[in-house]
Amino acid sequence: MKKILVTGGAGFLGSHLCSRLLDEGNEVICLDNYFTGSKRNVLPLLDNPYFELVRHDVTMPYFIEVDEIYNLACPASPIHYQVNPIKTIKTSVMGAINMCGLAKRIKAKILQASTSEVYGDPQIHPQTEDYWGHVNPIGPRSCYDEGKRCAESLMMNYNLQNDVRIKIIRIFNTYGPHMNPLDGRVVSNFVVQALTGKDITVYGDGLQTRSFQYVDDLIEAMIRMMNTPDDFMGPVNVGNPNQFSMLELANEVLDITGSSSKIVHLPAPQDDPEQRQPDISLAKEKLNGWEPKVQLREGLEKTVAYFDSMLQRGELKL
Ligand code: NAD
Ligand code: UDP
Repeated sequence: MKKILVTGGAGFLGSHLCSRLLDEGNEVICLDNYFTGSKRNVLPLLDNPYFELVRHDVTMPYFIEVDEIYNLACPASPIHYQVNPIKTIKTSVMGAINMCGLAKRIKAKILQASTSEVYGDPQIHPQTEDYWGHVNPIGPRSCYDEGKRCAESLMMNYNLQNDVRIKIIRIFNTYGPHMNPLDGRVVSNFVVQALTGKDITVYGDGLQTRSFQYVDDLIEAMIRMMNTPDDFMGPVNVGNPNQFSMLELANEVLDITGSSSKIVHLPAPQDDPEQRQPDISLAKEKLNGWEPKVQLREGLEKTVAYFDSMLQRGELKL
């Protein structure tokens, strides 16, 4: 049995990760400040004696003895990471310093949840890990993009300077149950809008594309990455390479829900990437042939079922 710390563990991805790590017989400490996450996401885990929930902010040091650290704490949606951009930078940078410092002291292995946003608005498609990106360092997304880029640099340097065992994964758009319905991400927005009969808000012409990965596929890759040999640190792209335009996504959601919501177009946000698509050759090679298994239709059906049950229970507060 390993003792594992998951920062941001009450969030969308973190709660799935905690659950999976417990299922595999580990002891899990979930640390979160509940900025975008919620206790509701980990409610079913609270009865498990091997699960511990701690309210803590990663910008402050935290001391504990564990074997592994998954560092996920950071708001991930543009609406939330732009509310307090300085805090977003602090969370990425000071969070990485505090967690790498902890890993160094207790000789734990640490995995950093990085992002496809380190590629910015990319000029090559699909993106491979050796592409250095096209990021606007002073734009509205920079608090997130540059914070995550600095966190990657910190990880690499803690390895170089202090031999900390590190792993970096670059996560591409991921969706599924436990997404925060208020965080403005496209899948949760469209599903909730369709279920509540509101207009489906497509930003810009809707021809921009994203590659959507279902959460279970990501969690599988994260755990495989943590278990790779110490000399493989990444970064490695983890995502589903199948691309869809926002209009295609909207129509798929309308079809699954049978909703009569109308598609409306709103102005595109500044610096909105036109296209984003992972090259996952490295993940396939290094993560034992890993590849996404859940395709968009199936994943969306599960996500619709989740939000629908929230709606039925009166928990979907908009
Ligand atoms: P999320 O917002 O649901 O989860 C983030 C969690 O971190 C929340 O529970 C939040 O309360 C917590 N948190 C935020 N600031 C904190 C702080 N200072 N101290 C402690 N806890 C804090 O988002 P998510 O989608 O689950 O993302 C998890 C991680 O994965 C993030 O680091 C994000 O950047 C990364 N990521 C996610 C995606 C995606 O598509 N979901 C894509 C790329 C990268
Ligand atoms: N988007 C949209 N309608 C929404 C929310 C988002 O058309 O209600 C678009 C957004 O402009 C972007 C894409 O969907 O082009 C993905 O946005 P999201 O915030 O989910 O992720 P990211 O931009 O970080 O990839």
